[in-house]
Amino acid sequence: VEVLGHIMAYFRSEEERFYMTCRAAYLSVFRSSLVNMTSKDQLCSVLQQAGRNPSQKALDKYWPPGTKKLNFDDFCEILKKEKTAEPDQLMRIFKKFDTNCDGYISHDELSRILTSSGEKMSPKEVDEVFSLADVNKDGKLDYAEIGRLVIGQNGIMSTPAVSCVIRKIKAIGGIILTASHNPGGPSGDFGIKFNISSGGPAPEGITDKIFQISKSLQEYHICPELKVDLSATGKQIFEVDTFKPFTVEIVDSVESYAEMLRDIFDFAALKELLSGPNHINVRLDAMHGVMGPYVRKIVCEELGSPANSAVNCVPSEDFGGHHPDPNLTYAADLVSAMKGGEYDFGAAFDGDGDRNMVLGKHGFFVNPSDSVAVIGANITSIPYFQKTGVKGLARSMPTSGALDNVAKALKMPLFETPTGWKFFGNLMDAGKLSLCGEESFGTGSDHIREKDGLWAVLAWLSILATRKQSVEDIMKDHWQKFGRNFFTRYDYEEVDSDAANKMIDHLQTTMSDKAFLGQKFSSGDKTYQVEKADNFEYTDPVDGSVSKGQGLRIIFSDGSRIIFRLSGTGSAGATIRLYIDSYEKDPQKIYQDPQVNWSKVTLFFFFFFIKSLFIPYFFLNVCIYF
Ligand SMILES: [Mg+2]
Repeated sequence: VEVLGHIMAYFRSEEERFYMTCRAAYLSVFRSSLVNMTSKDQLCSVLQQAGRNPSQKALDKYWPPGTKKLNFDDFCEILKKEKTAEPDQLMRIFKKFDTNCDGYISHDELSRILTSSGEKMSPKEVDEVFSLADVNKDGKLDYAEIGRLVIGQNGIMSTPAVSCVIRKIKAIGGIILTASHNPGGPSGDFGIKFNISSGGPAPEGITDKIFQISKSLQEYHICPELKVDLSATGKQIFEVDTFKPFTVEIVDSVESYAEMLRDIFDFAALKELLSGPNHINVRLDAMHGVMGPYVRKIVCEELGSPANSAVNCVPSEDFGGHHPDPNLTYAADLVSAMKGGEYDFGAAFDGDGDRNMVLGKHGFFVNPSDSVAVIGANITSIPYFQKTGVKGLARSMPTSGALDNVAKALKMPLFETPTGWKFFGNLMDAGKLSLCGEESFGTGSDHIREKDGLWAVLAWLSILATRKQSVEDIMKDHWQKFGRNFFTRYDYEEVDSDAANKMIDHLQTTMSDKAFLGQKFSSGDKTYQVEKADNFEYTDPVDGSVSKGQGLRIIFSDGSRIIFRLSGTGSAGATIRLYIDSYEKDPQKIYQDPQVNWSKVTLFFFFFFIKSLFIPYFFLNVCIYF
């Protein structure tokens, strides 16, 4: 009978359910619904019984001076107006209680609040409240208890889509299992990423804490009989050992993300560009990663590009044995297809869809530092920015100064941050940043808190649709207007750690000598004068955190720069990254082959600084990015 009662209750109309709630609350305080309320305190009790938490101000409004009594119908009307607290509102309040931010409210934390502010409670009353809420009797209140899990269909969801969904459903966080841009499969890479409620990567404070907790884990439990069907969208509910059921919701991997993009871009204009009478031909390479379903659904099905314009679109656990890194080396197939001249625009994505590479006809390469600068200079082609305005631009420190030239010309604030998207996220949360990019093929904006490969591609297509020019012409016009930053990066991997440390020390000593400032170096017909030399340090303007030792910078008077960064001094050896950013504003020289420019400029400096210490390791595992 009880079960039938529950089922019947479920099928009642919402209005009936509301009336039943009112009645249940009323009857828990009064004998009958015919009895009138005769004081503000009684009204407060009945509202609390109905799960509301009215403020003093609200009670004064419902019980204005001179009121003698209110009846059951009056109470129903008041209950309609008094909304229940939203989960995120409650979460904010709980977070305030949780003074050491560990996700739990301890007895001490609760006691401090309840005995000191508002209507003060006695220690005995606090004990009673605490034991009532501490369901599993572990001495702490787990306010952020997970009750609902949202998973992309078939376990597929790109990193930008996860960031989008976290923000949309106001999740407390998200977990991404990915090899990102590294080889995957049994002998490849595997990573676990944790993103916080803003949708961005967890800051170090949180990851450090996770690591600390992981060291003290004593046991863990698994439920082998608990099976989730990842292929069917919809909710699956499980009875678990907590006071509420656990819901697993399988969602369409693409839809939420596509809906967001429709709000950002002019899809009608993009459809015209990709499938109208004067359409361009594109080739998009998902590199066997997660982007296949996104490219097919958004670019092919919705924007009308032919199905064969998207390649390698079936996600595979080992990325088809390839390296899903969108650069000239690993996306060589796309480069050679583009060289054929059949396609006007090409792009590749990494395994989890946050990185991108953009190519023009005949394989014309747009380096990532230039890509974000071009988007910045043409930002009004994107409707989103017409609505939100442009708050600021940012790039990671090693990224070329191409974006700085745009910021200067358009009088926009520019931030130079350490490498890592979380630094951009802070600026975005504070409303200081709209568009940002990294030389390592990451481009994005404040629509989410991750870099976003497909967003960058649609941004470029929007510019193509507005300017009605080729990728190459857009790039060349840009250099004419802003000058060109010839940029290159060399990675020296698995070098001897001691030698690498010595080299960096030697460099730092040379650079910190006062005589170094103002020194002139000539290469060909160009002279570079040292204006500034330092080890990059960043103070986050939002949370005040300081990141030191981010890389040695030699900055010349025309804005050209040489940067050295040392990383990973573990057993497999160290990696030294050398970045060269050479600025050229002479219109006669901006179309030079970058190789010619670099060979003159870069190697000269390279040998000047480090020849004595570094040559034995010089030709080991050198990766060159253009
Ligand atoms: Mg990635």
